[in-house]
Order: sequence, then structure tokens, then C-alpha cells
Amino acid sequence: MTCFTFVETFSLDKTVKKSKLSAFRSSFVRRLEVVPYKETCRNTFFLWRLEYGSQSNFSVPSSSLAREQHTVSSSSSVVKEKLVEKAQKYKVKPIKKVLIANRGEIAVRVIRSCREMGIETVAIYSTADRNALHVALADETVCIGEASSKKSYLDITSVLAAAEITGADAIHPGYGFLSENSVFSSSCEELGLIFVGPSPFAIDKMGDKSTAKETMLNAGVPCVPGSNGILSDAEEAVRIAENIGYPVLLKATAGGGGRGIKLARNSEDLRSLYQMCSAEAQAAFGNGKLYLEKFVEAPRHVEIQVFADKYGNAIHLGERDCSIQRRNQKLVEEAPCPVMTEELRAKMGEAAVNAAKAINYCGAGTVEFLLSATGEFYFMEMNTRIQVEHPITEQITGIDIVQLQLQIAEGRPLPYRQSDINLKGHAVEVRINCEEPKDNFRPVPGRVSSLFVPGGLGIRWDSHIYPGYTIAPNYDSMIGKLIVWGPTRDQAIRKMKRALNEMNIVGVPSTIPLHRAIFNNEKFIQGKEIYTNFLETEDILSQVVG
Ligand code: ADP
Ligand code: ADP
Ligand code: MG
Repeated sequence: MTCFTFVETFSLDKTVKKSKLSAFRSSFVRRLEVVPYKETCRNTFFLWRLEYGSQSNFSVPSSSLAREQHTVSSSSSVVKEKLVEKAQKYKVKPIKKVLIANRGEIAVRVIRSCREMGIETVAIYSTADRNALHVALADETVCIGEASSKKSYLDITSVLAAAEITGADAIHPGYGFLSENSVFSSSCEELGLIFVGPSPFAIDKMGDKSTAKETMLNAGVPCVPGSNGILSDAEEAVRIAENIGYPVLLKATAGGGGRGIKLARNSEDLRSLYQMCSAEAQAAFGNGKLYLEKFVEAPRHVEIQVFADKYGNAIHLGERDCSIQRRNQKLVEEAPCPVMTEELRAKMGEAAVNAAKAINYCGAGTVEFLLSATGEFYFMEMNTRIQVEHPITEQITGIDIVQLQLQIAEGRPLPYRQSDINLKGHAVEVRINCEEPKDNFRPVPGRVSSLFVPGGLGIRWDSHIYPGYTIAPNYDSMIGKLIVWGPTRDQAIRKMKRALNEMNIVGVPSTIPLHRAIFNNEKFIQGKEIYTNFLETEDILSQVVG
């Protein structure tokens, strides 16, 4: 491998010498690393390390490394004409190259849709992810920094630098990391890059969970009773709690991923938890502000997938039930929700679409609700990005959500009306994490020495692991999602049981035994009385074998 190293300076105001860069973007360059080197108030100095020549040693099929050749057949000229016509009407800017500002399974997922659409891909990676699957599958790769997320996937300057030097025209943020960061999305806009997601305004309106609730109340969407915005201190929290009644939840306004939520059953709990919750939120999210919400006893988590375009059209793709959780984090998701009725779906769908319209939303988003045992539903939050569990919606609607995100980002109008959306069959997803369920879900990263993935009709595996892959300890412990589709819920559950029995990951512990216990549980199989406390009420952990 020939290496070439030099130092260049550039800042976000485009002092990059483009011609020089394109020379380096020749086909000989196998790998281009941009390593943040030194920062001054005006410029960031980067160390660029170029590797020429030989192929990498990844053990993925070489055919997937080769760029696809796209040929325009004669029949596609009609399609092309139509696209040109639409482009003129709708200000469409086709995306040619997407940088995926993420890692893991979602980066792989985005690359796959891009390939099918004829869009080139750029993978960014940290030094811990050199052997990651998304790096092996992308057309171009850029190393953007060290293992710690702060020094790589969360480093806005490095991510934008990678987009600039590779000539990407769009950025797909995936979920987590910078996906709900409005500074990032507006920086993309400033640099002329398409951000595959909503406007910075919409991100801000929904990113702060307390503000989001206020916005939704104003739009007439039912919300969980609680504080009017941010709490000023513990005493205010106690006053509000006495009014709405215990138990209550203290929630970090910047929280996410199930973190930053604390349950208080009385004023004593509330006073003692307040400082701790705020300090934890400050440390985890850089924002210690809290709000208060009534704790809804035994709810189901039901969320609506929405889609909106730049021209004011908004629809929903039905719901997902994500009630099977551990520590407020989803473990199993299914679509449709087993207790959904046509009437309730229409009401929740309308509320979700109104939520999106209220903030001029554009792209894919998810409006999360709590559904009480008596059928009332309350807005909880809106996630302004693709969701981990999006595949189950794809399975029952037949719509590729990533592809639709990219089309909307190009400026195309929604290709569906609400009446075009038909839900067919039943889909279930389980999140497989490299964790020890019986040891308080402790993450146990390590080397996957061998892997067997089930197959057959209606089975899908979205993952970034492969035999011989070493899971980095620096990131999320989710290593894959097993998704099944069947004509009915009963058949989907049987299929998942069969798939979970076949699935075998050797080298690291996983949540597979936990899922086997869940799918053997009578209440789960019956489906009608599942609430977010399912794991505890059914004492599932005691039934985990292996
Ligand atoms: P979903 O709602 O799509 O199921 P999760 O809540 O499980 O998503 O979060 C998806 C990923 O994003 C997880 O890795 C989680 O840790 C991360 N994440 C979500 N919100 C935040 C946040 N506010 N801060 C940090 N990480 C977050
Ligand atoms: P995150 O941003 O971490 O996803 P959410 O506000 O979406 O946080 O809540 C995560 C989970 O916590 C929900 O799916 C639900 O199980 C539980 N939860 C949140 N708010 C309430 C509430 N008011 N009452 C009961 N459970 C709640
Ligand atoms: Mg949530």
C-alpha cells in the first residue's frame, strides 16, 4: 500500500482548493483519511492521508465493492422525460452522491437503497470502524477521526470536510449522532449540501421535548398532562405534581434513547430525584433542563410514521406498536398494533399528520403516542429522523422509506396520497443487542467468531456484523435487527420463533435468549394486554434460558 501524507488547511468558508482535491479524487485513491490535526479560531487544520493502490482486505464479496454501471435503456427515455417535466414544476435537484453521516446497520441500510437508486455513496468512519461493513460497501470512504464519537461521528467540521472533499451533494444522517442536530443541518444548507431530513426549524421545534409538547398543544394534539414547559426548580415540580397527581415522570427536555426519565411516586422521591436527574441530563445531553409529565399507568407505546414533502402534502404510513421495552428502550416492535381499530388509526393518523403540518415538516418523521388501556392517546414526542424500527412499516406498506426520504430531499412531491397507503399483513422486529440480559443488560462487545442468520420467506436481517467482525465498545450495543413478515400476526409470531431458534451468534452474548422467552409468553402471543411494563409484570428475565 502506498501512502502519501500532507497537511492542508481549510475552514468552513470553503478555502479548499477544489482542483487540487479533484486530482486526489482519482480512481487510484483507495482510501482518504481526514484527521483533525489542529484548530485555531479561523481554520481547522487537517492531516490528509492518502492511500493508493491495493484493495482492502475486507472479507465481503468483491462484487459488492465494485461500483455499479448504470445504463439508460431506450424504454427509460419516457420516464426520463416525465422526470424532467416534474423537475421543472417542482424544483427537483437529483442527488448523485450521498455521504452517510452514521455507522452500523443504518449506514448499511442507507447504502443499500442508494445502490438500488444509482446514487453513489460515501462512508465516513472512525479509527475504531476501519473494518466496518458500511466502509466495505460504500463507493468511497473517509476516516474522520478517533474512536470516540465526539472526535468523529459527532464532529460536525470533520463530517462536512469529508462531504466537501468527496464532492457529495447530500448527507443522510441516519438516527442518533447528528441526525437531530439543527446546527449540523443548517451548516449543510449553508454549504449547499442537501440534508436528508426536515428543516433546522422543524428539528428545533421537536428536538426540545418540552417545546414540542407546547407546539403540539397549540396544534390541538392531545398531550400527557404535566408542566407548562421547563421546570424552574424542585418546588415547582412538587406543586404541579400535587395538582395532576402522583406518580409523575421527570423528563430531560433534551433526552433520547430512553435516557433522562425518572419516576417519582411522591414528593419525597421528586425532591430527591430532581437534582440528580438534572445533573445526569447535563452530563449526557449537555442540557440539564427538565419537564414534568403524569406517569400513565400501563400504557402501550404506539407511534405513527409520517411523511411530508416540500409542497405541503403530508400522509401517514400507519402505526408501530413498541410496547415491549426495557428501561424505556424498545426491544420488540410490531406493525400494525394488535389493538388498533380503523377508527383509532384514523384519529391517531390525523393527529400525527396535523403535528407534522403544524411545523411545516418535510421528510420522514415519527410521532410517538402513549395509548391508555381505555383508548385515550397522548402525544409524547416527535422524532425528526428515520427510526430504528422503520423496516416493519416497509414490510406492511411495501414502501422503501430510505428511498422515499431521498426522493423527498431531491424536491420531488410525495408519490402517494393517503388513500394509496394499504397495510398488508403483519411485521415484527426484534432488536438484537450484544448484551447480557441477566446482568442488567450490560453491553459485552467482542469478536463475532461465527454467525448463522436464518432465511426463508418473509425473513429480513438488517445488520452490520459478519463472521470475524469485532464489535467496537465505543458505540451502541445494537448489532442487528431481525424482521419477519406474515399474512397474520399469528403467522408472523410463528415465523419469528422459528427464526430466533435458527439464529446463532457465537463469540458475544446477545438478547436472542430474551427474545425467545418473549415469543414464548402467552400474553405476548395473545397480544391484547401488552403494556410498557411487560418485561417486569411477566417476569421475563427469569424465563431466559442460556
Ligand atoms: P427509535 O426511537 O428510532 O427507536 P431510539 O430511541 O432507540 O430510536 O434511539 C436510536 C438511537 O439514537 C440510539 O442509539 C440512541 O442511543 C440514540 N439517540 C436517540 N436520541 C438521542 C439523544 N437525544 N441523545 C443521544 N442519543 C440519542
Ligand atoms: P425518548 O426520547 O427517550 O424516546 P420518550 O419520551 O419517547 O423518550 O419515552 C420513552 C418511553 O418512556 C416511552 O416509550 C414509554 O414507555 C415511557 N414513557 C414516557 N413518558 C411516559 C409517561 N408519561 N407515562 C408512562 N410512560 C412513559
Ligand atoms: Mg421516544
